[in-house]
Amino acid sequence: MNTRRDFLQKMGASALMLQLSSVITFANTPNQIEQPYDGKVLRVAIMGLGGYATRVAEAMKACTKAKLVGVISGTPSKVKDWQMKYKIAEKNCYNYDTFDQVKNNPDIDAIYVITPNALHHSHVIRVAKAGKHVICEKPMALNTKEGQEMIDACKKAKVRLLVGYRMHFEPQTLEVIRMRNAGDFGKIMFFQGQCGFKIGDPKQWRLNKALAGGGSMMDIGIYAINGARYMVGEEPVWVTAQETKTNPAIFKEGVDETIQFQLGFPSGAVASCLSSYNINHLDRFYVSGDKGFAEMQPSTGYGPIKGRTHKGELTQPITTHQTTQMDKMATIIFEDDKPVVPVDGEEGLKDLRIIEAIYQAVKTGEKVKLTA
Ligand code: NAD
Repeated sequence: MNTRRDFLQKMGASALMLQLSSVITFANTPNQIEQPYDGKVLRVAIMGLGGYATRVAEAMKACTKAKLVGVISGTPSKVKDWQMKYKIAEKNCYNYDTFDQVKNNPDIDAIYVITPNALHHSHVIRVAKAGKHVICEKPMALNTKEGQEMIDACKKAKVRLLVGYRMHFEPQTLEVIRMRNAGDFGKIMFFQGQCGFKIGDPKQWRLNKALAGGGSMMDIGIYAINGARYMVGEEPVWVTAQETKTNPAIFKEGVDETIQFQLGFPSGAVASCLSSYNINHLDRFYVSGDKGFAEMQPSTGYGPIKGRTHKGELTQPITTHQTTQMDKMATIIFEDDKPVVPVDGEEGLKDLRIIEAIYQAVKTGEKVKLTA
């Protein structure tokens, strides 16, 4: 069965996106004809043309509701490459000194900030001041103070602030959430989230406290925090945490290598999580209730996500996360669509609050209470 995405991937031409109204394609459900999309397309400029930005740009080729139209980069050669590869007009190219002028560009609706963590705060606030919607990568900021300032700046400028939580649109993840809400697992008692990988090059910004804001917790542990919240379906009320550091030469002061942490929820459910930059093959969620369970492995990698529950294997479609994310974000921005799990600034702030509590718990060795 052909899908619109298959079709677009085969064609590989983003220029076709605006002509979709003349194309009739077929949905995944047999015998159901998908209506061609002739609505508004979110015209996006990407800021920071690194590894993840490239993945997003490739995935956006298959979007129907979002389109890559601009870039912001400090490296002219990268801008040229991207212009060629994605057919980006010269007038939609900026650098870090000039991008405030995007306010005078009616052909860009939103800017996707995909720069190192420490730059998100100033980049998002500048984009907001330029009057454009902002999508910001996780972690949204280095701390809650910064996160709140970003939310306030976007509110003041009347632009949307969304955080790149791609798992919030992933079909198997959403099925587990649906089953939990339907009571299939009974009362949720326990969540386990294991997120980690062995980090490579010791010189990369991810191991530089000033640019990363921390270590594995800021980068990969945040998935276990966020996952604990959307899998249990509650906000934690306490945190305990313990750090292990085996290589202080690479993982310097303030850059965590491995942290185990525990969360307690109002219902009495507990979570046990692991975040590491020094353990490979850690990508697993497990949620257990008094009537059933769900297990996902991989749970947050680029996919394919693989899940099973006490009822059997999950069979939801395998998606390219960033394609779905960007199409859904277009409907959030233009149609005020409400996703099952939020992706707004407040959602990003909730994770930052927990990260701060985890770091505090590591430092003090004490249980840290969380208040909303
Ligand atoms: P990267 O190092 O591959 O790219 C970072 C880009 O920022 C580079 O193009 C670099 O030139 C640019 N940059 C601008 N100013 C810079 C400065 N002062 N110092 C260093 N680089 C600077 O990193 P990445 O993996 O693309 O990560 C970027 C962001 O995306 C991070 O916040 C990260 O957490 C996030 N990310 C999210 C996912 C996800 O699945 N949602 C995956 C990977 C990364």
